Amino acid sequence: MSKFRFIALQELSSRKPLEVVAPSTNIADYYGCHVFNKKNMQKYLTDETIDALKRAVDEGKAITQQEADLIANGMKSWAKDNGVTHYTHWFQPLTDGTAEKHDSFIDFSKDGSPIEKFSGKVLVQQEPDASSFPSGGLRNTFEARGYTAWDISSPAFIVDDTLCIPTVFISYTGEALDYKTPLLKALLSVDRAATDVCKYFDKSIEKVTAHLGWEQEYFLIDSALYKARPDLCLTGRTLMGHSSAKDQQLDDHYFGSIPSRVTAFMKDLEFECYKLGIPIKTRHNEVAPNQFELAPIFEEVNLANDHNQLVMDLMKRIALKHNFNVLLHEKPFQSVNGSGKHNNWSLITDNGINLFAPGKTPNNNMLFLTFIINVLMMVYKNQDLIRASIMTATNSRRLGANEAPPAIISCFLGKSLSNMLDTLEKVGNKMTSEEKTALKLGVNRIPEILLDNTDRNRTSPFAFTGNRFEFRAMGSSANCASSMIVINAAMAHQLRSFKQNVDKMISSGIAKDDAIIKELKRLVKESESIRFEGDGYSKKWQKEAEKRHLTNINSTPQAILKYEDEQSKQVLIGENIFNEKELESRVDVELEKYTKKIQIESRVLGDLTINHIVPTAVIYQSRLLDNLVKLQQIFDAKECEQLSYKRRDLVRDIAMRIDSLKDLVADMTQERKKANNLENIRKKACAYNDKVSPFLDKIREHIDALEMEIDNEIWPLPKYRELLFTK
Ligand code: ADP
Ligand code: MG
Repeated sequence: MSKFRFIALQELSSRKPLEVVAPSTNIADYYGCHVFNKKNMQKYLTDETIDALKRAVDEGKAITQQEADLIANGMKSWAKDNGVTHYTHWFQPLTDGTAEKHDSFIDFSKDGSPIEKFSGKVLVQQEPDASSFPSGGLRNTFEARGYTAWDISSPAFIVDDTLCIPTVFISYTGEALDYKTPLLKALLSVDRAATDVCKYFDKSIEKVTAHLGWEQEYFLIDSALYKARPDLCLTGRTLMGHSSAKDQQLDDHYFGSIPSRVTAFMKDLEFECYKLGIPIKTRHNEVAPNQFELAPIFEEVNLANDHNQLVMDLMKRIALKHNFNVLLHEKPFQSVNGSGKHNNWSLITDNGINLFAPGKTPNNNMLFLTFIINVLMMVYKNQDLIRASIMTATNSRRLGANEAPPAIISCFLGKSLSNMLDTLEKVGNKMTSEEKTALKLGVNRIPEILLDNTDRNRTSPFAFTGNRFEFRAMGSSANCASSMIVINAAMAHQLRSFKQNVDKMISSGIAKDDAIIKELKRLVKESESIRFEGDGYSKKWQKEAEKRHLTNINSTPQAILKYEDEQSKQVLIGENIFNEKELESRVDVELEKYTKKIQIESRVLGDLTINHIVPTAVIYQSRLLDNLVKLQQIFDAKECEQLSYKRRDLVRDIAMRIDSLKDLVADMTQERKKANNLENIRKKACAYNDKVSPFLDKIREHIDALEMEIDNEIWPLPKYRELLFTK
């Protein structure tokens, strides 16, 4: 057996679950102990300073230099009491992860003796040497100044020996270079637009906060096997591998008992999350073998997203302690389910009304209907923008396969709510009071119906699930901000247009209630084609969607380019989330990421084909040939012919595959070179999609066939059955 595969499999046999001991059996004893939260602030800051910070968070009041110094000093004392020696501005550049550059608290006093210092100035702003982060041309390297600035709405926290301060990351000229800046803008925008609409129904509402509950799917692979797969190490997915005879067909993994080594990992992860105030609630096995999910209780979007970023980072580190590698790639294994990250999204007012939950009073129900219908219209109008926000090189491998909706965006509402909207559409423009009551009563019944609602359609990309929308098209490795920016900005834009239209009618003398109903009816009708209750994975739906003129874009670069079409610009630039330059640069960054990922996959596959697979095929072919020669020495020609014709076929088949592989790799390299010569980032990404990417599947087909033909003993890479079924 090949040395690598052999060593990896041997190492596996000695694996035992690590013993994980909780800091205490009572979660409350340690929950949030590594967060500079209210409880910790009260110990280290005066009441006045806490009030100043609270005013800054709630009302946007500026923090003075002196207050910043006091906060920084308190933070430092708290951090030091927890064994911290370093601090960092923690930010989310446009890469696949977070960034941090640690600085020690060390400083020197005037007389030269070392002291530990953390000033307000350093807390508030930093200038990391950030010339290497993707900027889409917003920063020239010669003037590579990027600034990080404290995001006061997300609390500081401790990881290991480092105090982490959540920050935004912007260029010298003020353009956003990260995910957080536009996210904060989109959240503010939806707050304002939603509050304005709420005031039609309840004048006391002053604020609407968007909430996010993410569900993170992932795979765990034993690290010995992981290390023996260069494709996993370098690209996050298996570029080759024949399917295992048994994978997920028996559905025996889903919600099954969790293997003890995995439980130990999960426990360890949960302790760390609780210390960081991340409210992890759910853990379970997912559909594919060795696939799992974890989900917290939902939080305000910005915090929830910081927590998701932090969790992805923690997962990777804690998994290593347990001799696992976490795969966050959307499709690490062909033929079994990939991983998504469902985004459960809702809007909640400052007096506690969930705008996506049917209310108890008729008035609240009209509020509910207003928001639901505006969501429908928002999704209908912004299908392309929503798709653009989730399409990446890695997620496109998952979309369209049978575990994830295809690249068609549609909304599922469920029977009761759908009926409601159909009724609304039919009532006259001037509703009689009976009609109004019927409508309101109808909505009133929704909560009961939803409670035992079994028609929770899991194939819909944008599904109403009782008190929230669940956006399911997001990839597991993504930053939730990319979809949350788009959804919240688009919602803000839609609500603003709704309000404008209603106000216009009111000023022309139509009563408020009637104006609202009239506009809602129009929206229900216009957005009708986005509503789909059937099987989103079926071929039939693809045809039906085409008839409805819904878009279906499978090319990642083409999907990303939709960030720049007219409707998207109206939303993103109109809502002041990006300026023209920022939007253009963002598109460039996404396209460049796409290009580079395909480029890396193509190189890795080329190398593995030529250095691992072809030589192994040649060795096995030689053995067969040896065997044939020996047969000839012993048997006469006729008998020899009878005895060996199958093996001769095999030799021919292997020869054909070796030749094809060599040709395909050469042709792919050629196409890559041509694409690399294109200056234009957009053209290059399209060339990678159209010309280079198709080779990946063609090459794989031959390799996977060879895996079935060649002696298991000499196959160089761990196989699917080994990767997926070791616990
Ligand atoms: P399922 O897999 O059935 O969708 P989970 O329990 O795995 O359910 O995940 C549901 C997610 O939805 C959790 O993160 C939960 O906190 C979140 N959630 C529940 N209610 C809301 C809400 N009103 N707004 C946002 N997220 C919510
Ligand atoms: Mg879900």
